[in-house]
Amino acid sequence: MRRMAANTASAHVIGGTEDLHAAAAVRLTRDHQRYTSGRRALVELLAAAPHPLTVVEVLERHEGLTQSSVYRNLTILEAAGVVDRVVTDDEFTRFELAEDLTGHHHHHLICAGCGTVKDFSVPSELESAMDEVFRDVAHQSGFSVGHHRMDLIGWCANCQQ
Ligand SMILES: [Zn+2]
Ligand SMILES: [Zn+2]
Repeated sequence: MRRMAANTASAHVIGGTEDLHAAAAVRLTRDHQRYTSGRRALVELLAAAPHPLTVVEVLERHEGLTQSSVYRNLTILEAAGVVDRVVTDDEFTRFELAEDLTGHHHHHLICAGCGTVKDFSVPSELESAMDEVFRDVAHQSGFSVGHHRMDLIGWCANCQQ
């Protein structure tokens, strides 16, 4: 089904994925790294995931990879700006595609109980209002803002019981 779509005019989604891979390849090349099939598989997995993934979750979704190679490749992808590390309260680092690659700016709900991480976004008017406040705060310290990261730490519905 997917393969057929690639050969017809309706290759919209596939074109989007190819754009993502092309952008990832450019960033790795800039970092003197190769876009290997293993790294490509990781980008594909993260693109399909509904939330940031731990290394263990990556391994569950992709049999045949070793923990050390996944971790090493994610670290290389992170250094190249393809992947972002989501800092949580627990020991499990999570990874997601860099926002400027996906074009999907968002925040996270991080559960301090079970470590679950969920994405959420707020209306663009609110984003603009927050950016204005952040710019003011930063200005007072002579700091120039690039972008913001903001996550909420608390307890998910399950962990409140
Ligand atoms: Zn929880
Ligand atoms: Zn935001």
